[in-house]
Amino acid sequence: MTTLAENLLAKTNEYLPEDRTGIVLRALKYAEEAHDGQKRLSGEPFVAHPLETALYLADLRLDPTTLAAALLHDVMEDCGVSFRELEDRFGNEVARLVDGVTKLTQNEMKSEGRGQGLRVSSDDDTAQAASVRKMLMTMAEDIRVVLIKLADRLHNMRTLKALPKERRLAVAHETLEIYAPLAHRLGIWEMKWRLEDLAFQHINPPGYQAVSKLLSAKRTEREAYIEQVISVLRGELGNAGVKAEVTGRPKNIYSIYNKIQRYAARNRSFGEIYDLFALRVVVEGVRDCYAALGVVHSKWRPLPGQFDDYVANPKDNLYQSLHTAVLCEDALPVEIQIRTAEMHNLAEYGVAAHWLYKEGDVGDPRFEEKMTWLRQILEWQRDVSGAVEFVESFKTDIFRNQVLVYTPKGDIKELPAGASPLDFAYRIHTDVGHRCIGAKVNGKLVALNYELQNGDTVEIMTSKTVRGPSLDWLNQNHGYVKTSSAREKVRQWFNRQAKQVNIQRGREIFHKELRRLNTSLNDLEVAKLARYDTVDEFFAALGSGAITTNQIVERLSSQEVKPDEVEPVVLPAGGPGSDITVLGVGNLLTRVAMCCSPIRGDAIKGYITRNRGVTVHRASCQNILRESDGDRLVPVNWGEERTLYPVRLRLEAWNRVGLLRDVTSLVSDEGVNIASCVSEEADDLSIISLTVFIDGINQLSRLFAKFEGVNGVLRVSRATA
Ligand code: MN
Repeated sequence: MTTLAENLLAKTNEYLPEDRTGIVLRALKYAEEAHDGQKRLSGEPFVAHPLETALYLADLRLDPTTLAAALLHDVMEDCGVSFRELEDRFGNEVARLVDGVTKLTQNEMKSEGRGQGLRVSSDDDTAQAASVRKMLMTMAEDIRVVLIKLADRLHNMRTLKALPKERRLAVAHETLEIYAPLAHRLGIWEMKWRLEDLAFQHINPPGYQAVSKLLSAKRTEREAYIEQVISVLRGELGNAGVKAEVTGRPKNIYSIYNKIQRYAARNRSFGEIYDLFALRVVVEGVRDCYAALGVVHSKWRPLPGQFDDYVANPKDNLYQSLHTAVLCEDALPVEIQIRTAEMHNLAEYGVAAHWLYKEGDVGDPRFEEKMTWLRQILEWQRDVSGAVEFVESFKTDIFRNQVLVYTPKGDIKELPAGASPLDFAYRIHTDVGHRCIGAKVNGKLVALNYELQNGDTVEIMTSKTVRGPSLDWLNQNHGYVKTSSAREKVRQWFNRQAKQVNIQRGREIFHKELRRLNTSLNDLEVAKLARYDTVDEFFAALGSGAITTNQIVERLSSQEVKPDEVEPVVLPAGGPGSDITVLGVGNLLTRVAMCCSPIRGDAIKGYITRNRGVTVHRASCQNILRESDGDRLVPVNWGEERTLYPVRLRLEAWNRVGLLRDVTSLVSDEGVNIASCVSEEADDLSIISLTVFIDGINQLSRLFAKFEGVNGVLRVSRATA
C-alpha cells in the first residue's frame, strides 16, 4: 500500500467508526485497479490524484460516501466504468455523486479540453458558461458533487506546473474567478485561500514573490508581537472567568496583496505589518462571546465603525462571529474575531459542516433551506434565459463583495456591494420592485440609485396602483439597478407588454437617448447595426428591454467615432488625459513631478505623497534616489496612449447661478478635457455649446446621462455641423 493510501486510511480511522470505513477501503482498491498503468502529465501514477482528492475531503471530515465517490471520481471518464457497475458495487448514492462529477468534467472538456480552462473563442465562452451553470445547478441538488470538484481542482492546481503555459494561466484564472469564490460562498475558508494563493502564484508571480518576501522579512518581529498580545488577552479573559482559546490567524498572500492594492489606491502605505494577521478567540457559549467582547473592549480601545455582530445577524452562508478591531498594545490596530466552537466549525468547514461525519446525528434538515443564496440559484434557473446570462448573474450577484442591510423589521439582507434600493426592493419581492416609487434609508429619503452601505435600514415606498418599472432602470449609466437578477425581472416585465406599446416606447428612448449620440447614421442603419431587419422590430426590442441602450452604444462605438470637422488628437504625455498606471491600477490621482518632468517613454517611479496622490518622477531623479522611506515608492507605468476625438455638444438649461460651473466640473470629473465652452443667454434659458475630447461613444453616452442629472438641464444633444 502506498503512503498516500496509508495516510487516507489513518485519517478516516480518526473519525469514522470501524464499520463505516469498509466502503472507503473498497473504493480505494477499485480505483487502484481501474487506474492501473495510467499516468498523470506530471509522470506520477494516476491513482495519486483521486487519493489526494479524497485526502482533502477527509481533512474536512466528510462522510464515507463522499470519500468513496472522491476516490472513484475519474473511473467513469478515464476507465469507462458504467453507472450500473458503480451502483451495483457501491450503491446508488456513490454512483450518483461520481456521475455528477463526471458530467461536470465532460462539460469542461467540451469547452476547454480535458480539465484545462483554455478559452479560445466566444463559442467556448458559451460552453464554459454552460459548464459553470451545470455545476451550480448540481450544487443546488447535492453540494457534495461540488465539494469533490473543489478538492479535485485543488489537487490539479498543485500539479499545474506539468501543463504548458497558456493552459496553466487559463486554469489559474478560472480557479480565481469561479472556484475560489465558490469555496468562499460555501464558507470553506481554507479551501478558498489555498485555491487563491495557488492561482495567484501563476497569474502574478512577481506579486506573489513580493508579498512572500514582505511576510518573511517581518516574521520575527510580528510573531513576538502576536505572542505578547495573546498572553495579555489570555490573562484578561482568565481574570474575567471566560474560558477561551486564543490564537493568531495569519492572512493569505492573495488577500494581503489585495489589501496593499487598496492601500495604494487610498495613498496609504503598507507599513502596518499588523494588518497581516488577526486574533481569534473561541469560547464555549453565545453569552461567552459577548463577555469576551466586553473584556477586549475594556482592555483596548475599539476602533470606530469596525464592530460587526454576525452572531445576532448570521451571514447568508450562516457564518457567525463577532468582529472588532482595537488599538492594541503599543497602540497598533488588531482585528479580533470572537465565536463559539460550533460557529468556528461552521466557519472553517462551511457548508461541508453539514456532511461532517457525526455519530448518530442527522444534522440540521433545514440547513440547505437556510442558505438563501442557494435558493436564489434555483430561482434564477427559472428566471434567467441563457447560460451566459446565468453565469453573469452568478458572478455579479453572488461573487461580488456583499453589503448587509436591514429591513424595517430588522431582518438582514445580503446584497452585492454597490446595490441600490431598487435591488433591495426586487430582492424582497418582484412585485415590490415593480411598484417601487421611492426609498428611505435610515429614515431619510434617498435617490433610487443610492449606493447601499453596510448597516443601512432600507424602507421601500410602493404605489397602490400597479405602475410597472421604468425603462431607465435598465440604463446602466443611471445606476438604478445593479444586480443581474433585478435587471432580469425588469426586462421580463417589459417583455410581457403589448408590441405596439413597446414600439412606441422604443422610439421615444431612441430619440431621447441614442439619436443624439451619432448624427451620421439613419434609423434603419442603426437598427441594422443592432442586427434587426426593420426599424419597428428594433424599436420593439428597445422598448421591451430585450436590448438595452448600453448594448447599442457598444455597437455604435465599434463604429469609428466621426470627428466633428476637427482632426483627432493624441494627447501628449503628462497632460490630464494621459494615463499613468500605478501598481497596475489606472485612473489614480497622479501628478508629474516638477523637479525632473518625465515624458512618455522615460523610466519612471511613483512617490506616494501625504495628500496629493502619487507624484511621478524619473527613475533616475535625485529626489527619488535620496528617498529613504522605501514604503512610499510604488511602481508606475505609462498607460496606453489614447486617441481622443473632439465632439461638439449643445445643452439647453434653465438659467441659474452656478450652472456653468456644475456643467464644467462634471466634465472634468469624468476625466474629459474641454476644448471650448460658450454660453448664450436668452431670457430664462441658457444655451451652452461645448467641445470636448472624448475617447468613444461610450464615454459620450455616460456624459449625456450625467448632464441630464444636472439641476435645470432640459436637453442635451450632439450638435450638427
Ligand atoms: Mn480529477
